[in-house]
Amino acid sequence: MITHRRYELAATAGAVILAALTVACVYRDLLLPAVGLALGAAVLLEAAVRERRRYLRAVEEAEWARQQALGLAPAPLDPCCLLGKTSHGAAHRACTDPRTRQRDERDSA
Ligand SMILES: [Zn+2]
Repeated sequence: MITHRRYELAATAGAVILAALTVACVYRDLLLPAVGLALGAAVLLEAAVRERRRYLRAVEEAEWARQQALGLAPAPLDPCCLLGKTSHGAAHRACTDPRTRQRDERDSA
């Protein structure tokens, strides 16, 4: 969880630095380096957004697991698990939805 947060902050810092360098290059009429720096800033910005999503998902899963360990019956997360989302519901692993988890345990037995 902390790793995602660290990557998010590093990518954000890199994107800000590259954006500032892009502006400096444009100001000095260095258009070709400005294009490269702008592309680099866009890639780092996308990475920051992706890591932010992963961090928030990890926080949600940790809270769900904590409630589960306390004996509460927390509602499944949306999406229930990352494998279920990418497989369009065909497969689940470490799922937060008890219905699909029971179905997968029956299928594997
Ligand atoms: Zn699932």
